[in-house]
Amino acid sequence: MVLYRIMLEDSSAAVTAHDGAAETAFVELARLKKDRGALILAHTYQLPEIQAAADLVGDSLELSRAAARTDARVIVFCGVRFMAETAKILAPDRTVLLPAEDAGCPMADSITAENLRDFKSRYPGRPVVTYINSTAEVKAESDWCCTSANALRVIEAVDSPEILCVPDRNLARWCQRNTTKKLVWWDGFCLVHVRIDPEDARAAKAKYPDALLLAHPECEPEVLDLADHVLSTSQMLAFAARSPARRFLIATEAEVVGKLRRDHPDREFYTVGPAQHCVNMKKTRLADVLRALETGKPAVTLDLDLMARARRPIDRMLALG
Ligand code: SF4
Repeated sequence: MVLYRIMLEDSSAAVTAHDGAAETAFVELARLKKDRGALILAHTYQLPEIQAAADLVGDSLELSRAAARTDARVIVFCGVRFMAETAKILAPDRTVLLPAEDAGCPMADSITAENLRDFKSRYPGRPVVTYINSTAEVKAESDWCCTSANALRVIEAVDSPEILCVPDRNLARWCQRNTTKKLVWWDGFCLVHVRIDPEDARAAKAKYPDALLLAHPECEPEVLDLADHVLSTSQMLAFAARSPARRFLIATEAEVVGKLRRDHPDREFYTVGPAQHCVNMKKTRLADVLRALETGKPAVTLDLDLMARARRPIDRMLALG
């Protein structure tokens, strides 16, 4: 018998779990969590079974804040590597486990510390605002961090009329449209969001003219041009919760559509074109979380000096509130 089955429109992704196996796994998970004094954090792009197992589901900023303030001895980070690294930087005395060790982020990996040092040398004196979707080494070379939820606020807070933005070109372009400061950006991008096609956005709007199109700033500018609102993942969830609208077109990773449908079964949420999934975010399975809690591995380890340097730009961002 199926415990839950979630299929996203236009998607081949289906997640199923059977009562007996799932129940056993969740009982074991609760036992291990208590034994280890663990907190389970899951990004909104994680599979529904992982979201169901988590103490907190959120975006990068929400999860970073939770990591910074937790008393838990162990943080199990269900996401990709840069997120678990950020948790470790903010909670260096805790054990941070990344259940799917090979879950990386091509956008974060599009720039190395050496690339950034070279970029800075071409624009001397310009401060660097680095998207949280970046490696610890790149954060350590940066002046500020930002997320998609607060990028514009960070840019306005930086005391400089010219700023370097890495690694996401689309987030930087979006900010450039909304600030008088001059931004120079790295040419990185998210493979998942750039696959969302403006033609599909036009077709979806024509099919559902009463729907609001909410788009993530990692989408291409042509998609953002068609959006009613450009919002981070957490902002989309909050917007939908308070909006009187009945129909929404959601231009971001498809798991967000699944979550919105579960949270608001009385309303309609559609992907823009084919559902886009981040393969790295889908690498974490319940069995991986159980194994990580059982074995205490794989744990994120970072050099102490690197963590101290990477923490400064994150703390500046968090201090903005
Ligand atoms: S959705 Fe994009 S930015 Fe986020 S982890 Fe996947 S590849 Fe990286």
